[in-house]
Amino acid sequence: MTQQNSGLSDSTALPAQVLVVGSINMDMVAHAPRLPAAGETLVGEAFVMAPGGKGANQAVAAARLGASVAFVSRVGTRQHGEALLQALQDEGVDGSAVLRDAQALPGIAVIMVASEGGENSIVYVPGSNAQLSPQDVLAGARKFQAGTVTVAQLEVPLPAVQQAFELSRAAGGRTVLNAAPALAVTPALLALTDWLVLNETEAFQLAGLPALPEETPPAQLLSQVGVAAQALRQRGAGQVLVTLGGTGVLMCGAEGLQHLPAQAVKAVDTVGAGDTFVGGFATGLAEGLSAVDAVRLGMAAAAIAVSRSGVQSAMPRRAELGPAFA
Ligand code: ADP
Repeated sequence: MTQQNSGLSDSTALPAQVLVVGSINMDMVAHAPRLPAAGETLVGEAFVMAPGGKGANQAVAAARLGASVAFVSRVGTRQHGEALLQALQDEGVDGSAVLRDAQALPGIAVIMVASEGGENSIVYVPGSNAQLSPQDVLAGARKFQAGTVTVAQLEVPLPAVQQAFELSRAAGGRTVLNAAPALAVTPALLALTDWLVLNETEAFQLAGLPALPEETPPAQLLSQVGVAAQALRQRGAGQVLVTLGGTGVLMCGAEGLQHLPAQAVKAVDTVGAGDTFVGGFATGLAEGLSAVDAVRLGMAAAAIAVSRSGVQSAMPRRAELGPAFA
């Protein structure tokens, strides 16, 4: 038998509040003074291996903030797969609907980071993430329930995401699509999307608009992002949220546009900010907060995450957000 249920515990008898359907990878990060040129070998300064993948990151972000989280994914158990499953379990994520594939390699990202300047180069090998099928998602159908917020990204095949959102809608749940990376999204999928979340680069790409130069004044940036968000909303998503790094989030819904500024923090490492935001936003929605308050929860969590280095390791626990989010 080449594939089976993960064997991970179903950590709670209650339905998951947040159900993440998506990717899981092992990130292998080598730090060197600079990036090597083609054909060059450099002596590195440090090496870190850490679980990643947008799906797993968002699941961990939500679990740390106190949501009961289940994960639907396909994990190749060759090489680092078992370690990835163990890491999910250690975070309290219900992995009982994760499919184990003994023949496949898990997703791997090989990342080189230059200590001078922080530039990076990445080779991403999707492995089992690219094999997540609608049937795999159907095998976890019991996880889709009325109160559940289903969250997906685009590091797994579109038909699997489509299947997940169909199951969510049929169960009376809500859906959050983080359109990252910025791949073309079908109208059928957008019609099943309650919340489309993407950063400004992805918003311009998906809307087919040119990116703005770095030095664009904030007011002009917001107005152009608003144009992109409205164009995307007209394609069928219920509401569009564009994340703007240190500038916060622009919400675009039936009532128009609303800008929520981010908390001012000293950013140390912004990798994974979007994943922390999505995990926090989904947690807020699942708790019954208004969309604005759910955005505030996501932004508060992301502000803490960017003030520390690392991705999953930088994600805060609920108590760190202070009394406003207790
Ligand atoms: P991505 O990681 O997908 O590119 P963003 O960079 O837009 O996403 O960040 C997502 C969210 O994280 C932002 O909307 C904001 O709330 C928070 N964030 C990101 N960078 C900063 C920063 N420098 N200061 C405060 N909050 C930040």
